[in-house]
This record gives sequence, C-alpha cells and structure tokens, in this order.
Amino acid sequence: MRRVPVPPKISGMSHSTHPTNKSAAPAAVTDSVKPSNFLRQIIESDLEKGTYATRRWAGTPGDATHHAAGQPDPAKIRTRFPPEPNGYLHIGHAKSICLNFGLARDYGGVCHMRFDDTNPEKEDTEYVNSILDAVQWLGFDWHANGQSHLFQASDYFDFMYRAAEYLIEAGHAYVDEQTPEQMRVNRGDFGKPGVDSPYRNHSAAENLTRFRQMRDGLYPDGAMVLRAKIDMASPNINMRDPAIYRIRRATHHHTGDKWCIYPMYTFAHPIEDALEQITHSICTLEFEDQRPFYDWLMARLIEGGLLGAPAPKQYEFARLNLTYVITSKRKLAQLVYDHRVNGWDDPRMPTIVGLRRRGYTPESLQLFAERIGVTKSDSWIDYATLEGCLRETLDASAPRAMAVLDPIKLVLTNWDEVMGADVLDDCSAPIHPHHPELGKRQFKMGPEVWIERSDFEETPPKGFFRLFPGNKVRLKYGHVIECTDAIKDEAGNVLSVRATVVKDTKSGTPGSDAIKVKGVITWVAVHDGIPAEVRIYDRLFLDAQPDAGAKDFLESLNPHSLKVVMAVVEPSLATVQAGDSFQFERHGYFVADRIDHTQSKPVFNLAVGLKDSWTK
Ligand code: ATP
Ligand code: MG
Repeated sequence: MRRVPVPPKISGMSHSTHPTNKSAAPAAVTDSVKPSNFLRQIIESDLEKGTYATRRWAGTPGDATHHAAGQPDPAKIRTRFPPEPNGYLHIGHAKSICLNFGLARDYGGVCHMRFDDTNPEKEDTEYVNSILDAVQWLGFDWHANGQSHLFQASDYFDFMYRAAEYLIEAGHAYVDEQTPEQMRVNRGDFGKPGVDSPYRNHSAAENLTRFRQMRDGLYPDGAMVLRAKIDMASPNINMRDPAIYRIRRATHHHTGDKWCIYPMYTFAHPIEDALEQITHSICTLEFEDQRPFYDWLMARLIEGGLLGAPAPKQYEFARLNLTYVITSKRKLAQLVYDHRVNGWDDPRMPTIVGLRRRGYTPESLQLFAERIGVTKSDSWIDYATLEGCLRETLDASAPRAMAVLDPIKLVLTNWDEVMGADVLDDCSAPIHPHHPELGKRQFKMGPEVWIERSDFEETPPKGFFRLFPGNKVRLKYGHVIECTDAIKDEAGNVLSVRATVVKDTKSGTPGSDAIKVKGVITWVAVHDGIPAEVRIYDRLFLDAQPDAGAKDFLESLNPHSLKVVMAVVEPSLATVQAGDSFQFERHGYFVADRIDHTQSKPVFNLAVGLKDSWTK
C-alpha cells in the first residue's frame, strides 16, 4: 500500500536543548493521490452526474421551505460525524472521523459535527466536550464557508414531532397499544410473516388524538408506541411497522422535561441527515438492514413536502476491529469503573485521549485510517498496523536521545590518567540522524556513566558483543572502552562494572576507528544524567480478540501491561514539555506524559518500540 509521506515536524534548533516536535495542525495526508474505495467512487459518480447540484442551503438546518429560500449549496457534498455523547471516543471513531471529514475535505464538501442526542438517558456534557476536543485534536474542523456546522439532534425534536403527525395524517403511522411482548410475538421472524396489530387500522383522527395524548403525558412509559405503517409481511423485519416514537419520562440534557416522548434512532437519524442537507450518510454495516426504512421515510416526507429532494443516502462500511483491543464504549467504561486502568486517558486505553497520552499523534492516526481503508466486509486489523503507523510518523520527526532504563554504574578506572583529572569530555550527537540541519545535542562524558544492566555479562553467551571482562565496546558518541571486571555484593549481584578508556578513540576524531569493536552501547553520564520515571506499556489484553463470542474480556487482561522503572536520561531532555515525543536510542519512542510530566519530575511513556515484537 502507498506510503503517505510524513513531513518532518521539527522546527528550530538550539544547542543542547531539544526542539519540541509538537505537531502542527491537520491536513496531513492530503494532496497526493489517495487509494480509491467504494465511497470515493460513489461520490465521484454523484459529482459527475450532478446528483446534488441543485440543492440549496439556508445556512442552518431546516425543512424543505427553509432550504428552498437559501442559496445554492456552496458545499459539493455534505457528510457528518454523529456520535452519541455517551462516552469517550475510541480508535473506531477515529476511523469514522477521518473518513467523514476526510471525504468532505477531499471533495469540496463540508462535514457536520452532530451530537446524536435523541436518547435522553445516557448523555453528559463531559462527553460532549471530550468529543469536540478529540475531533479537533485529530486535525478536523466543522467550520467551513464562514459557518460553524456543529449541530445537535435534540434541536430537531419539534420537526420530528411534526413529521410523525404528518405520517399519521397521511395514513403512514399508527399508535400501537399492544404490550411489548405481543408486539414481539406478532412481529414474526425470518421464516414467519408478522401479524397485523389490532390497532393498525384505526383512523388517522383516532391515531392523532392518541399520539397527542402520548405527548401530553397521559400514559405511563411503555404503554404504547407510534409505529410506521409499512408491511408486516416484509422479508426485512425492520420494515414490519417499526416503532418510531416511545414514551419515556427522562430529563434531557438540552430539552429538559419538555418531552415525555422521544423518537427512535431509526426514525430520528434520517431526519437529522435531511434537515442538515447531508448527501452521503456513512454508517457501519449493522445499519444495512435499516436502509430500506431510511429510504421509505425520506420518500414519505419528501412526498408530503416536509423535506426537499434529493434525499440523503445511507452507505455502510465495515467497522474497525483491531486485535488486542476492545472498542465497545460499555466495556471500556467497565475497565475504568473497575479500576483496571487509570481512567479514560490511561495510555493503555484505545480511547483517543488514551492514545494521545500514550504518544500517538494526529498524523499517525490519520495515516492509520488511510492505510486500513474502507471496505464493505468485516475483518480484523492487526494491532501492529496501528503501531507501525506511529513508528513511521515518529521516526521521521522525533528527536533522538539516550536513556538508560535499567541503570548500572560503569566506572572508567583510568579516566584521570587518559583524560586528565576532573576533565569532562564534550560529546555531541545529531538531534535527528536524517536531518543534520537540525543540529546537535550536547552532553559530557566523565569517569562514571550509567549503562543498561543487560549490557554486561560476566560469562557472555555466544554472540554477545557487549561488555564482558576483556572485551572492547564503544560508548556511543564517545570512546572505546575495555571491560576489566565487576564489583559484586556477597550474594554475587553485580553492583558496578569497571572498564578502562582506550586512548585516542573518541568518536569523530581522526583515527578513532583504528580499533574495531563489535558492540556499541548507549549510556548517560552520572554527573549530568537526569533521573526520570519511565512507564513501559504493553498490550492491555493477551488475547487477540478479547471480547469475541461469549468471552469474558477481563480474563485476558495482561497483568504486565504496565511496568514503571526509574531511568536516567541525557541532559538534553531537561527542558522538554509534556507531550513532546522522542526516540530513546535502542529502546523505542517515548513521550513526556501529558498529565504527570514536569521538568523537575520527568515522566516518560513508552509509545511504541523500535521494532514490532509481537507479529512473528
Ligand atoms: P459503541 O458501540 O462503542 O458505543 P457507537 O457506534 O454506539 O459505538 P456512536 O457514538 O454512535 O458510537 O458512533 C459515532 C460514529 O462512529 C458512528 O457513525 C459509528 O458508525 C462510528 N463508529 C463507532 N464505532 C466504530 C468502529 N469501531 N469503526 C468505525 N466506525 C465506528
Ligand atoms: Mg451508538
């Protein structure tokens, strides 16, 4: 698949301090030719045929009359991202956001940010704010053509009510007083046609009276519903007179107690699309069987003059399934409320806030959405694909640094003789190996440095090229050293390693490579190394499909998904800001934790390793 070029995000340079690599705003993966997909083909064909060319747009959502008085729509297409504000967005939503906003951007359209808040029970303004944040952080904007396209479906309750009355008057809807159980039985099943409700042939006048009584609060919750009158024998069960309004006494976060009846999702959604002049209404595959009702409803309301033609059309794509990840809001909530993770933004969570804190960038998620594409059949995407996108974008942009995650002291016993007493030797390294123009980072080598514990072996296994008595290695960007021995405690644990500096081997000086070594190890000097907490994250689940079938996803929680270590990092990291990302050489990509990092108490999260260690 085509690689999306990622522009380097480093700007400015200075000595011994790192530039930040905070990502600039959106647009990342535009311009170049995109792989086509069935949605692009549909849109291109509609644009060519002028399917939506005559639409008008009044500047705000509204009915047929409202838009007819408007100007020709400046947006060539209109899409929408319509979350229910009942939880934090996750990686699956990121796919949908990139898709809907991306298509609008690519085809001269507008994507509406719409809160689908027709279900009064579960909504919360905390979620509303986090959703808006997530969309903007991903690099998208609902402002276009000088207007904001931020809408909420509850603003359309009046119209929905009017549409329901219209359907009743036109003989297309009736109030059904059967019990839920009777309705269920009479709906039939795949092999058996449904049975008409005894209330189905009530007159329009009777139905209208009843419906108004429902609205006026004369009946208890669940006593009756308004149903569309379509076909109880339809092979599509969704067309067997679906319920479109129910009685539910609940305080809505916008409309308060104004309503005690609420529209069903399948009725509300097409109307929301139509009032907003959406052209391409893109949803996940499970709504495929609802499409005939969507079209039926649009046709009835256009017939009645309530909505203008052409109607929006629904298209379905396969939702994202990602291995080792769960994307059900309910199950994610359970992880949070059971304290299996430390909140919605725990870096192990597949929520957008979690991914962000883990070190994911908007570019990496846009690249991921682009790379997985859209299809019409369900499949699983390997978690390694997501990690690969992060690695790829960070490799191009992240400043480099050395860090020792499991430090043991290395003492250079002949330092004073070779280098001079109290001498600290200046060393430098490129900020980014492929961007020399970014300059160098500076640090000093002294008689004591920290190295990784695993870089020393008293009795080396075959093929081990790092430190063991008698072996020479290079301290990266510094000198070649020769290991002499180790200091141990009574139990035989290594407390420190000893070595001698080999004269005239300093990196970058003439003749420095006269002595050939097979190992190069990273290090941080004791005198200027900065202690830092490093949080090493791993997958949250051990099972590739933790909640498939009837599996209890809690059973496959990875007990080692978080390991906290005290590390030492090079002095150039002294001034980093929370949210900055780096490559710790030999280790992987790390981000200064957005919440807990401070310059006096640095905290870094492992975002992704240098190599994929999971796919075999
Ligand atoms: P959940 O099942 O986690 O509650 P949802 O589908 O109910 O998710 P909504 O808030 O209704 O969440 O979703 C908003 C939009 O995001 C919808 O258009 C939906 O199609 C899309 N979406 C949700 N989950 C995924 C996913 N896994 N892959 C792609 N798109 C998704
Ligand atoms: Mg939903």
